[in-house]
Amino acid sequence: MSATTAATDPLTRLLALSHELGREERKLAILGEGNTSTRVSDSTFIVKASGSNLGTLSPLGVTECRFGDLLPLLDRKAMTDAAIDEALFAARTDATAKKPSVEAIFHAYLLTLPGVSFVGHTHPVVVNQLLCSKHARTFAKRRLFPDEIVCCGVESVFVPYTDPGLKLAQAMRAAVVAFIKRLSRPPRVILLENHGFIALGPTPESVLAATLMGAKAAEIFVGAAAIGSQPRFLTPAQVVRIAGRPDEHYRQKALGL
Ligand SMILES: [Zn+2]
Repeated sequence: MSATTAATDPLTRLLALSHELGREERKLAILGEGNTSTRVSDSTFIVKASGSNLGTLSPLGVTECRFGDLLPLLDRKAMTDAAIDEALFAARTDATAKKPSVEAIFHAYLLTLPGVSFVGHTHPVVVNQLLCSKHARTFAKRRLFPDEIVCCGVESVFVPYTDPGLKLAQAMRAAVVAFIKRLSRPPRVILLENHGFIALGPTPESVLAATLMGAKAAEIFVGAAAIGSQPRFLTPAQVVRIAGRPDEHYRQKALGL
């Protein structure tokens, strides 16, 4: 994405990010898969509408929603599918806009985390090879190479398989709260078992970088596991060293991460 794109409004930046994530040859999302969001004010955010395609997303394919209508759902015990649909429609700021994605509930939550203004959720083929295998949790916990730490953080949040929608948003919040308590920083990447990948950050560039680097890490993991029983992971001390290096912080800043 160019510097001119980065300087424009949230909708333009969200569409540009969506088009990058939806590029067919990247195999991150096909058809209606995946969704993206960004905050537009203290009280509202825009999110991909249900059924829209990331690669060709247009202004008509996104819906503006109120945080105040969706965040309280996270504390509800149980809701029927019909009641959740009703809540999604009611959260729109424009009654003629399309139905927001059912994942709008977790987007609302993630956009309240400190330093998070953009969220991108995809189903990358190579990442899902691991998330649909016994290696899923290890892929989230361990790191293989320095750039993975720079773009994806020292560790990813892992969410065991949960029914998409409200239940997934609730399970994700519990996992993110535990992560922040343990590591004192918000995650850059959340991995959903048997489902997909979420990148979050301050800019569209940070979300795209975490997604592409996460997919690259998965490809390396799969290849390393194929030629030996277990890849050689960086040690915890090596991970801490990379995360704390001033030159890596400089690089993160230069890349808009
Ligand atoms: Zn999904």
